[in-house]
Amino acid sequence: MKTLGPRPQLSVSSSSSHEAPLKKFLSDSGTFRDGDLLVNRDGLRILPDGGLDSPAPLQPLDSQFSLADVDSIKVIGKGNGGIVQLVRHKQTSQFFALKVIQMNVEESIRRLIVQELKINRWSQCPYIVVCHHALYDNGIISILLEYMDGGSLSDLIRKVGSIPEAYLSAICKQVLKGLVYLHHEMHIIHRDIKPSNLLVNHRGEVKITDFGVSAILDRTSGLRDTVVGTYTYMSPERISAKKYGHKSDIWSLGLVLLECATGSFPYTPVDKDKGWTIYELLEAVVDQPPPQAPSDQFAPEFCSFISACMQKNPEDRLSAQRLLTHRFITKYECPDVNLASYLTSVGSPLATF
Ligand code: ATP
Ligand code: MG
Repeated sequence: MKTLGPRPQLSVSSSSSHEAPLKKFLSDSGTFRDGDLLVNRDGLRILPDGGLDSPAPLQPLDSQFSLADVDSIKVIGKGNGGIVQLVRHKQTSQFFALKVIQMNVEESIRRLIVQELKINRWSQCPYIVVCHHALYDNGIISILLEYMDGGSLSDLIRKVGSIPEAYLSAICKQVLKGLVYLHHEMHIIHRDIKPSNLLVNHRGEVKITDFGVSAILDRTSGLRDTVVGTYTYMSPERISAKKYGHKSDIWSLGLVLLECATGSFPYTPVDKDKGWTIYELLEAVVDQPPPQAPSDQFAPEFCSFISACMQKNPEDRLSAQRLLTHRFITKYECPDVNLASYLTSVGSPLATF
């Protein structure tokens, strides 16, 4: 590893030119370290000063945060509503993810979303992505989030194909702790648990993101316009427009885990060539028996865990609290299962962008 002398200029003025400044100091084969920013030909990662296992404590940002306070480095993701960028705060040199959303909803709802996000700021849970700031300006919502350098579980599945059970257990344990916090302390239903909303980092931390927004959209007519395609992780009772509660998130978690373990979405159309429409998929979730983990490929603990999550009657599903004591979680609670080294060894999904 080579250490650079003077700090290279990383600032870019617009997202369209985000790649250009990095090219200045990328070599064909080397890896460069610029303070806590590690760059190689695959992409970039953040290394906290003092080593991988000792995260630098975040300094509180000015409460009068504005977009002019950050330099944009790279686009790291795209969702239905907009893009997510890696940015560096000019004054403190801290890295953040900046999510910029242009929603096809009324002005009043956008304001409501920002208001809600502000309430969610600095949530006191290590298993929830911190939302540092939320701004609304000229039809655009900007959210400054804690940066998770491993990306999302959907990035990870794309990269590794499927996640081995032992690591899935370690991931699931942290997601369950996040859900216990949301369900039993905050009394919130997330409503949008899916692989792209579960983020990981090289320290082996797993955190839930994007709560709040879907709750508001759910209360308004905006949902249909904005989040088509995410219906697929919805529980049968939600699809059927029945009353639903926090067990709805447990169904989604079961589906996510099954997808992570097998590497493919658990519902498959009868005619694979033809595929199916979102309505046919919704019908399948409501009408078909729930998907199961194949017992010839997975341990009985995993199969039983999936079955405990994916009961069509929400009352038959276990709560996040109960699932934390399930054999699938306790079985792998040993030092051999080092999620941090697994996530580091599979590399930063940022490399694929
Ligand atoms: P949808 O818009 O339907 O909710 P989505 O969850 O994929 O879909 P985003 O929430 O905009 O859309 O996220 C897009 C991608 O951006 C994620 O898959 C992830 O790779 C990346 N991302 C989002 N938030 C962060 C973050 N805080 N740190 C690092 N990467 C992030
Ligand atoms: Mg998301």
